Amino acid sequence: MNAVDVIVIGGGHAGCEAAAASARVGARTLLLTHKISTIGEMSCNPAIGGLGKGHLVREIDALDGLMGRVADAAGIQFRLLNRRKGPAVRGPRAQADRALYRAAMQAALAAIPGLDIREAAAEDLILESGRVVGVVTGEGDEIRAGAVVLTTGTFLNGLIHIGERTLPAGRAAGTRDAIHAGAVEPPSRGLSKMLYGLGLRMGRLKTGTPPRLDGRTIDWASLEAQPGDEPPVPFSFLTKKITTPQIHCGVTRTTPQTHALIRANLDRAPIYSGQIEGTGPRYCPSIEDKVVRFAARDTHQIFLEPEGLDDDTVYPNGISTSLPEEVQLALVATIPGLEEARILRPGYAIEYDYVDPRELSPALEVKTAPRLYLAGQINGTTGYEEAAAQGLMAGVNAAKAVGGMATGGGAPLILDRAAAYIGVMIDDLVTKGVSEPYRIFTSRAEYRLTLRADNADQRLTALGERAGLVGAERAALYRAKRTRLETGRAAMCGLSLTPNEARRHGIAIRLDGVRRTALDLLSLPDVDFGKLATIWPELGGLAEEVVEQLEIDAQYSGYLDRQEADILAFRRDEALALPADLEYRAVQGLSTEAMQKLDAIRPATLGQAARIDGVTPAALTLVLAHVRNRAAARHAS
Ligand code: FAD
Repeated sequence: MNAVDVIVIGGGHAGCEAAAASARVGARTLLLTHKISTIGEMSCNPAIGGLGKGHLVREIDALDGLMGRVADAAGIQFRLLNRRKGPAVRGPRAQADRALYRAAMQAALAAIPGLDIREAAAEDLILESGRVVGVVTGEGDEIRAGAVVLTTGTFLNGLIHIGERTLPAGRAAGTRDAIHAGAVEPPSRGLSKMLYGLGLRMGRLKTGTPPRLDGRTIDWASLEAQPGDEPPVPFSFLTKKITTPQIHCGVTRTTPQTHALIRANLDRAPIYSGQIEGTGPRYCPSIEDKVVRFAARDTHQIFLEPEGLDDDTVYPNGISTSLPEEVQLALVATIPGLEEARILRPGYAIEYDYVDPRELSPALEVKTAPRLYLAGQINGTTGYEEAAAQGLMAGVNAAKAVGGMATGGGAPLILDRAAAYIGVMIDDLVTKGVSEPYRIFTSRAEYRLTLRADNADQRLTALGERAGLVGAERAALYRAKRTRLETGRAAMCGLSLTPNEARRHGIAIRLDGVRRTALDLLSLPDVDFGKLATIWPELGGLAEEVVEQLEIDAQYSGYLDRQEADILAFRRDEALALPADLEYRAVQGLSTEAMQKLDAIRPATLGQAARIDGVTPAALTLVLAHVRNRAAARHAS
């Protein structure tokens, strides 16, 4: 018998959620990571959430994951982005105190029963009959388990670039002197070799980070200050109030001198000198990339974000760079407010191996190596939130695959594109793969009006409870909220006016003799809840959160009905499962391109097959006919 059910390798954002989810559904779980003290480390930007990413955090929270609660405990500036746009695309974001974030994440993990944490490097995987059954550590210890989740981030064959200098490393979080002395977190080479050995399609990607500045040497008084929202809006549906002190950030800009300096040194920039092979994130480019790609612009905005309440380190958001250190120093000095700024740690780029996510099933299991799950940056994504969301799903599915009484065993938990941004992201990854680091955007979702940050709990908490993921406290709170919402909705539906009565209250509607309920009236553009409460004072008793939710639902009501019909049609195709052993070569009339793509990706459903580039509706008809004939032939024999 195995000592543990699931081993999670890596204590980053994916690893923490994977370990927590696996243990929460009842699997005996071991989190194996290089250093316990770096669990919950934010490798780059000290911020959680943002556009699309904030939706992921709310969904993780709705499934009782950790990221939202931890960000609430560590957040030192909260802002709701896109506040002036519709609720569907608003993105909650918080800047976090790095040390508080790590401490809160470590405390949250320590409180989970059934989860052990061990400090060790995983060097190899143990396979038996093609199935993964354990891990070998750097010290040569063999630990056996029913399933393994790999969340090694940027560590697989990691190579740091600072100008012409390269350093094999998974990450560098130390001071300038420490980096000069080569004191960086070591890369993970053994596991990379192992994954290549499994024959998986793999590639190289790159990302980068800006130099860190000493806040005491910044001329804050000359800069525009950027405050957060007052009051701060938490991520977690469980957090009642943010109690961490809140801070301001500073805003500055690059100058024509900055750009001239960068242009003069492009031959020393690893991304232009040919030193870096991997593709970088298009939506988070380095400053040298911005200067080249947007040559007509002579300035770019920079947010100066303090990294903590008791920390003078400042993260200059917008000037990620891998230029040589002396160029970084000169570059910073060309920026208003930073003329005298001291660099605590140089910016750098990092290249690392990733696995083509088309090697994975929608449960995030490697198709050719059962019981091996991958989550996070290793799958070609970028960002803490994308990593955490995958980690949660890989953790719960690894635990379910191992089975056992507590986990309920059996079928994996898969969220489809109409259920969650998590579903959109995983479907994109396993169906289309990546050609550059993948980040989530609201524009990637077809059903944006349904997948809102405000209703993540209504979409996912009950589902998470059925999967064994959601604890008793959240389940009870959610049920109480749902009851309040239903009571509020019923009260609104029980009150109505004729068009003439409405006109007497100053609400102009068509004189068609049809009574409108208070909920119908709320969907009119110039009617808000305050207006309705003057007509029906009894509505004044509804809780603020209920009012807000009813207003959003009413605002979208016409569109949501239409979207509901689209979702039904989408789910019909998703319900048509394609057999895992389908011989696409045997499908008559299928083009070679479609056959090869279907064979490589082996879609789980007809809906997923339809989303593969190059698979036409005609090809789908042929596949469907083949599946039906095959089933009929098997039935007859
Ligand atoms: P990580 O957070 O990298 O965690 C990996 C964990 O695995 C670590 O705890 C490590 O110690 C452990 N580990 C690795 N190998 C082993 C092993 N063999 N045995 C045991 N433990 C192991 N994201 C953005 O969205 N925008 C950006 O601009 C951006 N810039 C970045 C710049 C840099 C320099 C870096 C390093 C990252 C950047 N990121 C950026 C990415 C962001 O940090 C990651 O997306 C996120 O942290 C990925 O989470 P993860 O859990 O997959 O991996």
